[in-house]
Amino acid sequence: MGSDPKRIQVLLPLPLAGPFDYTALPDAPLVEGDFVKVPLGSRTVQGVVWNMSPQNSDIAADKLKPIMGKLDLPPLPDSLRDFINWVASYTLSPAGAVLKMAVSVPRVFDRAKKKTFYRLSPDLPEKLTAGRRAVAAMAQEDVPENMPLALKTWAELAAVGEGVVRGMVKAGQMIPVEVMADEAFPEPDADLAGPILSPEQQKAAQHLCQMVSVHNFKPVLLEGITGSGKTEVYFEAIAEALQTEGGQILVLVPEIALTAQWLERFEKRFGAAPVVWHSELTPASRRRAWWAVVRGQAKGRARVVVGARSALFLPFQDLKLIVVDEEHSATFKQEDGVMYHGRDMAVVRAMQSDCPVILASATPSLETILNAESGKYDWLYLGERHGSAILPQMKAIDLRLHKLKSGIWLSDPLRDALVKNFSNGEQSLLYLNRRGYAPLTLCRTCGHRMNCPHCSAWLVEHRKGDRLSCHHCGFSRAKPNSCPECDAKDSMTACGPGVERVAEEIQVLFPGARIAVMASDEISSPTQMREMIASIARHEFDIIIGTQIVTKGYHFPMLTLVGVVDADLGLGGGDPRAAERTWQQLEQVAGRAGRAERAGQVLFQTYQPEHPVLKALISGDGQAFLEREAQEREHHKLPPFGKLAAIIISGADYNAVVKTARRISAHAPKNKNIAVLGPVTAPMAYLRGKHRFRLLVKAERQVKMQKTMGQWLALCQLERGVNIQVDIDPYSFY
Ligand code: ADP
Ligand code: ZN
Repeated sequence: MGSDPKRIQVLLPLPLAGPFDYTALPDAPLVEGDFVKVPLGSRTVQGVVWNMSPQNSDIAADKLKPIMGKLDLPPLPDSLRDFINWVASYTLSPAGAVLKMAVSVPRVFDRAKKKTFYRLSPDLPEKLTAGRRAVAAMAQEDVPENMPLALKTWAELAAVGEGVVRGMVKAGQMIPVEVMADEAFPEPDADLAGPILSPEQQKAAQHLCQMVSVHNFKPVLLEGITGSGKTEVYFEAIAEALQTEGGQILVLVPEIALTAQWLERFEKRFGAAPVVWHSELTPASRRRAWWAVVRGQAKGRARVVVGARSALFLPFQDLKLIVVDEEHSATFKQEDGVMYHGRDMAVVRAMQSDCPVILASATPSLETILNAESGKYDWLYLGERHGSAILPQMKAIDLRLHKLKSGIWLSDPLRDALVKNFSNGEQSLLYLNRRGYAPLTLCRTCGHRMNCPHCSAWLVEHRKGDRLSCHHCGFSRAKPNSCPECDAKDSMTACGPGVERVAEEIQVLFPGARIAVMASDEISSPTQMREMIASIARHEFDIIIGTQIVTKGYHFPMLTLVGVVDADLGLGGGDPRAAERTWQQLEQVAGRAGRAERAGQVLFQTYQPEHPVLKALISGDGQAFLEREAQEREHHKLPPFGKLAAIIISGADYNAVVKTARRISAHAPKNKNIAVLGPVTAPMAYLRGKHRFRLLVKAERQVKMQKTMGQWLALCQLERGVNIQVDIDPYSFY
C-alpha cells in the first residue's frame, strides 16, 4: 500500500456534490486550500485541495486520476474553508455550490494579476532599423524614468507595428518586466479624528473598541433609534481594528447600491474609500477586489470591505471585525441557490475568525433581541438623537372615517398636512412599497384580470411605455386596448395604486411642486442613486414618492413630513414575520422625518389603526409590541422558539411535481417532535413556468434539523424534471 500515490480530495466549484478523489503530484507538495487543475470527464477544471488525508473513500485507488497542476495562487485560508463546510452542512447544500460563491469571480484563476511589460535595454547596437529607432527614441526621450509599458502601448506611441516591438524583445533590445496589473487600494487612515461623541455614544464606542482589541468572538447588538449615531459609533470600532497591521474589516449592508451616503461618510472619516463588493461590479473590479482581499502580505491588502451578503465568502486572511448594518433587513436572506441568511452566517464567520461581530439596527430582529436578552450577545443602546433632533410625532389616519374617493389615494388629513408642509417650504415623503402605476389591470366589462402567463401573479402596469410587467419573472407586454377575454374596447382599467399613480395625484394637487419618484424602475445605477439622494438632500425636490428603497438610513435635513399611503400593506399573508417586518419597515421610513433641527411628523393611512403594529408605531412602544410578538411565536413554537424549514418542489410537469411531493410526504419522519405540514400548492403556485408545491417542517428546538432532513430526503427519488429546494429557517413564504 505504501507505494500507492497519495490520495487527496479536491472540491470543485460546481453545484454537484462534495469533494472528488484524485491522486497527488509526486513532486509538487500541496497543502489544503491550494488551487489545482484536475480532469473531470473530458474537461479540465479548477478546484481547491479540500482534504489531504481523506478517510474511507470508496473509489478504488487505480481508478483515480492525478491532479494536473497547481495554480499560482495563495491557498484559500483555513477559516474560509471551514466556513464553506459549515454553510454547506447548515443549508443542506453541496459544498461545491458554496465554494462556487467564494470563487465566482470571472477569470479569478487566471494569472491576469501579473502582466508583462517592456522597457528599453541599456545596451543597444549601433545600427537599428527605422522602426526600432523610433521605439528607442520614444523610450529615451518621452517616457519617464525607464518606465515599462505594454507592447501594444510602445507600438502605439512610436507609431510602428507591434511586430517591430516584438522583434526588439526577441533581439534582447527590450527587456520584459513583470508588473502588477491591479493597483492596490488606498489605505483608510485610522488616525484621522472622528466627531466628538456624546457621552452615550462614547460609552458604546469604548465597549466596541475594547472588544476589538481583545480579539475574541463575541456578537454585540448595537441598537439605537434612527439618527442616534450608530454609524459614527461603529466607525470607532473600525478605526480600532485598523490599528492592527493588515487586519481586515467586513461591513455587510443590505443593498450596496443604496449606500451612496454611507460611502461618502466613510471616505470623509478615513480619508480613503473602502473596497466595495457586490454582484454588479465589472469582472475586472471583482477580480481586483478579490485579489486585494486574499493577499498574503499585510502590505497592500484590502483593509475594509463593504459589501452585500456575498462578501462573506471573500478569502479574508485576517478578519478583525464584522459589522452587519441594518441587521433586521430581509435582504440578507439569499432566496435561491444556497439559501442562507447573511446575518446569521456573519455570526458564524466571526466565530471562526475569533473576532467580534456588531449587529446594528434601529429595529433589531426578534431573533437578535432574544439573543441579547439571554446574554448570548452583548447589548448596547443609543436612545438620543444626535444634536437637537427629536423623534417625529406619529399619527394614524383612520380610512374608515376619512373615506377615499374612487381613484384617489390620499385622504383629506394627509392632503392638508402636505399642503401645510409645502407652503412652509419643507420636504415631504410619501411611502408606498409598490412599484409601477397599478398592481392590477382588469376588464370593467367581464372582470378579466391580466395575469402573467408564467406565474400566478398579476401584471403590474407601468406608465413608461404603457406596459404590463410581471415582477416575478420579468415578462412584459403592451397594455391591451381591448380585453383579451371579451374583446370589449377601452374597458381595461387600472386597480389600486403604485408609486407612479400617487405621483400623478400629487402632480394634480401641487402643480408647482418639484416631484421625485424613487423606485428601482426609475433608478438604474448606483451613480444615479447617489445623484438622486444628493439632490434630495440639497432640497431640490419638495415631494418624494418612494418604495422601500427610501427607507435605508438616509439623512435628509429638510424632510419633516412622512406620509405612509398604505400602512396595512404587508400585514396579511402566511408569513410569521409579517407583523414584525411591517413594523420595522414603517419605523425605518418614519425615521426619515425630522432628522435635523426641524421637528417631524409621520401619518399612517390605515383601515386597522387598532392593529398591534400601528399601535406600536403610534405609541412608540416597540418594546411591548416585540414582547407580544415573541409570546405569539413562542406559543406557536415558531423561530427562534422552534425550528422551521420549507421544502419547495417545482417542475414544469404538474403530475411529476405532485407525485414527488406525495413521495416526500410519505417518507416524512415519524417523530413526535416534528410536524410536517403539507404538501400544498405554494401561494405562488406557478412561477416562471413551473408548478410549485410546498411542505413546511416544524420541529422542537432540540431536533437536529439538518441531519433529519438530510436522511429523509435521501430516501426520496425525484421524478424527472422535478427540482427540490430546501430552505432552512425560511423568510419568504410565497
Ligand atoms: P444612525 O446610524 O443611528 O441612524 P447616524 O450615525 O447616521 O445615525 O447619525 C445621524 C446623523 O447625525 C449623521 O448625519 C451623523 O453624521 C450625525 N452625528 C451622529 N453623531 C454625531 C456626533 N457625535 N457628532 C457629529 N455628528 C454626529
Ligand atoms: Zn411572471
